[in-house]
Amino acid sequence: MPLSSDQLGEIEAQRAQSHPTRRVVAAGMEEHLYTAHQVLDHGFVRVIDYMGDDAAICQAARVSYGKGTKSVQNDEGLIRYLMRHWHSTPFEMCEIKLHVKLPVFVARQWIRHRTANVNEYSARYSILDREFYIPAPEHVSAQSEINNQGRGDTLQGEEAARVLEILKADSARCYDNYEAMMGQDGQQGLARELARMNLPANIYTQWYWKVDLHNLFHFLRLRADPHAQYEIRVYADAMCKIVADWVPAAYKAFEDYRLGAVNLSAQMVDSLRRMLAGETVTQENSGMTGREWREFEAIIKES
Ligand SMILES: Cc1cc2nc3c(=O)[nH]c(=O)nc-3n(C[C@H](O)[C@H](O)[C@H](O)COP(=O)(O)OP(=O)(O)OC[C@H]3O[C@@H](n4cnc5c(N)ncnc54)[C@H](O)[C@@H]3O)c2cc1C
Repeated sequence: MPLSSDQLGEIEAQRAQSHPTRRVVAAGMEEHLYTAHQVLDHGFVRVIDYMGDDAAICQAARVSYGKGTKSVQNDEGLIRYLMRHWHSTPFEMCEIKLHVKLPVFVARQWIRHRTANVNEYSARYSILDREFYIPAPEHVSAQSEINNQGRGDTLQGEEAARVLEILKADSARCYDNYEAMMGQDGQQGLARELARMNLPANIYTQWYWKVDLHNLFHFLRLRADPHAQYEIRVYADAMCKIVADWVPAAYKAFEDYRLGAVNLSAQMVDSLRRMLAGETVTQENSGMTGREWREFEAIIKES
């Protein structure tokens, strides 16, 4: 479990409190507030705060004086229209603040999303916990032969055991040396900001991450995608569930028009039209490169 009993106690105490408010609350999100959803072996994602709900998107789109909502059907229709036509600013009116615990190599991918506000745990100020991501055996995989940026078959037997042993031993040795460098037997000890430099990228870090709904959808579109690395995808998947409870209409529109949708190039649209008209279209007469054609086939063929 990624949380100690003290930390769980703090979370429970916070969850036990409630305050009357004139602000909008989303019932589905109130249930998530502060709860840590476990991800990977020591990680989690938990909602610290949020602003807005589905109605707030409509309110902003209509620039209303009051609640700005009409019938539920009307609001859903508006949200779907906004999503379909990339009218994105009303979605920026909703915000979410998360507390995330994640391995450093996942954090390096995550931090590339520049449109969020971040504050990370300071390893200059504090000592990092002895917590390392060690993949479950089914996620210890070989290099993919078809995708340079991916993994292939799961390693088996002795090979898998050897890899896991190396990962565990290196993590333990580096952490032992981290502690040893910071002071032993009355020695002065190396500064924390320097001692951390020998720690491996599978050590866990933590941050608070605040983002608006439009940019969160952009993050989820890229990181909940099958092409994203498994270790960041599981965080995106956990966040998708939270967002579905927070803004159900917006999330459904996101699923339909982003997550489950595809982009077609001009050549792809042309080829599709010609196919529908009964023409035999091949890569050679499509105007697409071999790679584009394979991507096109993957879109139009049933899996
Ligand atoms: C499957 C996958 C593989 C990847 N592989 C690599 C890799 O090999 N190497 C690598 O370095 N990265 C890689 N990335 C990271 C990727 O290139 C992006 O940096 C990352 O996904 C963040 O996307 P973003 O810039 O759109 O998001 P954000 O930073 O959140 O930005 C959102 C949008 O805001 C706008 N924006 C934000 N900042 C600026 C700016 N300064 N100037 C102009 N417009 C801006 C852009 O329109 C941008 O799309 C990969 C990402 C994925 C999903």
